[in-house]
Amino acid sequence: MQGEQERAEVLIVGGGLVGAVLATLLGEAGIAVSVLDARSKALETSRIGQGLPARRVSAVTPVSQRLLERLKVWPQLHRITPYTGMQVWEAEGSGAISFDAEQAGTPVLGHIVENEVMLEALEARLAELPAVTQIFDARVDALQTTAMGRRLILADGRRFMAPLVVAADGARSQLRELAGIDVRAHDTGQTALVTTVRTEHSHGGVARQVFLPTGPLAFLPLTLDGDAHYCSIVWSTTPQEAERLGALSREDLGSALARAFEHRLGKVMVIDDAIGVPLTQRHAHHYVEGGLALVGDAAHSIHPLAGQGVNLGFMDAAVLAEELIEAHRRGAELGDLRILSRYARRRRGDNTAMLALMDGFRMLFGAEHPALRLARNVGLSGVDRMLPLKRLLMRQAIGERGRLPASCR
Ligand SMILES: Cc1cc2nc3c(=O)[nH]c(=O)nc-3n(C[C@H](O)[C@H](O)[C@H](O)COP(=O)(O)OP(=O)(O)OC[C@H]3O[C@@H](n4cnc5c(N)ncnc54)[C@H](O)[C@@H]3O)c2cc1C
Repeated sequence: MQGEQERAEVLIVGGGLVGAVLATLLGEAGIAVSVLDARSKALETSRIGQGLPARRVSAVTPVSQRLLERLKVWPQLHRITPYTGMQVWEAEGSGAISFDAEQAGTPVLGHIVENEVMLEALEARLAELPAVTQIFDARVDALQTTAMGRRLILADGRRFMAPLVVAADGARSQLRELAGIDVRAHDTGQTALVTTVRTEHSHGGVARQVFLPTGPLAFLPLTLDGDAHYCSIVWSTTPQEAERLGALSREDLGSALARAFEHRLGKVMVIDDAIGVPLTQRHAHHYVEGGLALVGDAAHSIHPLAGQGVNLGFMDAAVLAEELIEAHRRGAELGDLRILSRYARRRRGDNTAMLALMDGFRMLFGAEHPALRLARNVGLSGVDRMLPLKRLLMRQAIGERGRLPASCR
């Protein structure tokens, strides 16, 4: 194998959630895809979705749900928790806003899904597709451009060749770096402390978030065997505060969470170790070059406060797949810059707007100035009373923005 060159029509580097969705879409259309991932092997299915919920979860929008349904992956997901309400308020202020699915004209506002449950189902689906090859223990070391397309060389010497290479290798994308694509990055000055808790009161299918002076604290609803007293915690705060909180005993962290959350769900019991994830927003200078495209976090990583990251990535995958499948049907070269540019044009605006919105939120809620404080209290509660505007915001939050690819309609 070493030194030999394996060929595919598309090489996807990174078999995370976004890379796996893209591979499924392309594989279903009969396009020969190889997915290379640095992980040593596929997820261990016997462990996933058992015992404690995984700490990394995602709020999946109804639009992303439609995509996963279309890929026959959604019915395979277990331990998913629908939420029909959202509450957002400001600590030490009077501003508050709430959303509910009925007002939005949709059965649910979204589902909280454990990331590894989603990935396991996607990997199982990929294994059913003859056009897809999953390759693990594959760390890319070099990217070359040849007359025949792009060549990848792995750290162990294996070589792969394709007209198109897609970087789906996450926020610190090595492929993006190898291609020399710059990013606009800024440290949000926050770290997310992530853990799982059991609460005294039921979450009642509502996702809640309080804006503290140091950053937002979210309690995302989880239901285990019909028991609606679990939540996944994402507490975005200063790195110093995250370190201090992370070093507390589980009991003390539970008390700190209950206090910060104004005891809205009563007592809080921490049931897993807390981990800290530094939050940096990045946006690639460009998404495509001849024979190369960036998708998901490799193209943009976003503050988790609105739970949009993986949903944006899924839309990238759906739009890129739509353009590639159409090109494949015409017999066009998949690495053609004109085809890839159509994908970039269709996705850049939506991603840019969402990144800017997150910046705006953080600045508005992080500001101590009394005028801004008044503005956000009046603003939140004012919007709360304006049903048409609220409806519009809800449609945006559930992913109904712009021209959706056919797989998401
Ligand atoms: C605290 C937190 C909470 C979040 N909550 C939400 C939420 O509620 N809703 C939401 O939509 N989003 C959320 N997100 C964002 C979401 O997790 C990411 O947007 C999503 O995981 C990105 O998926 P990806 O497939 O692009 O990248 P990744 O998940 O990072 O996957 C990258 C893959 O590439 C592989 N890889 C990396 N380097 C290489 C290499 N050199 N060679 C080969 N393979 C490689 C990795 O092994 C991995 O499998 C949250 C993020 C954080 C930090």
